Amino acid sequence: MQCKRCGKRVAKYFRSTSGEVLCELCLRDGIYKQVRKYLTLYNVVKRGHSVLYVARPDRVPESVVSLSILKRFVKALNLKLYLLVPRNVESVFKEFEGVAESIIKYELLLKPLTWLELVKCLDMLSVEMCRKLGCQVALTPLFRDEMTLFAVLGLLEAAPHIFSEALPVKRGNGISLARPFYYVFSSDIVALAYLNGAYLDYESPVRLSEQECVVVKHVYGILWRSRELMYSSRKSVELLQNVVLANKATCRYCLAKTSMDPCPICGSLLAKSQQGLYRTSD
Ligand SMILES: [Zn+2]
Ligand SMILES: [Zn+2]
Repeated sequence: MQCKRCGKRVAKYFRSTSGEVLCELCLRDGIYKQVRKYLTLYNVVKRGHSVLYVARPDRVPESVVSLSILKRFVKALNLKLYLLVPRNVESVFKEFEGVAESIIKYELLLKPLTWLELVKCLDMLSVEMCRKLGCQVALTPLFRDEMTLFAVLGLLEAAPHIFSEALPVKRGNGISLARPFYYVFSSDIVALAYLNGAYLDYESPVRLSEQECVVVKHVYGILWRSRELMYSSRKSVELLQNVVLANKATCRYCLAKTSMDPCPICGSLLAKSQQGLYRTSD
């Protein structure tokens, strides 16, 4: 079967969100355009900025492929790029040595973490490293479907500090925590990683909490079958952020909107860990 978009190459992937069968190049190009849309619309990354890319320990191949997409913007926008990569899988990021200013390894000291705790941990680490390295922006590969789950979790709990994780960008103290894959579905990235042969064995530090399991079980199936719902949820988040998140403080650690600073999750993480939450090579 031929690719529906270019009509030239052999199709290798059925993209359920658009109903197209695509070749690897057209899939990559589609993702590239979604990232470009984010960067244009939210205007977080400016020409010449120093940016930090934070690879996820729970989605290593996806982090590699996401970085290969961002690489094009690094060159086009003349960005100074710092990479933060999990210590146990540092070798798979070797191919980016020429693109990055430096590659810093990190290790999480508290395991296992719930999914939300992991995101908060990475955001805390990002804020600290941005300050240290003089970066204006940290980029984390979180995907459309994951952020929709955060929106649902946050609404269920009526918790602004969870709901905040569904936002396209969190800001505070001159630093932005941006989600350049805001429009990208994780299934597309997983497929691209698979087609690139980027799969590998690694141990994820995440164990879903009881509530995360409930949300994933009951919401994911419905979301997956309805891209309208997934995209309209994005609109609802943007609408609700004005109401739910108005007049809220900012957590100094994860930059989420919150009723108390630090937010409950950062607060409990800090209380649980006496020796700190992470260790870096820099
Ligand atoms: Zn094609
Ligand atoms: Zn926080």
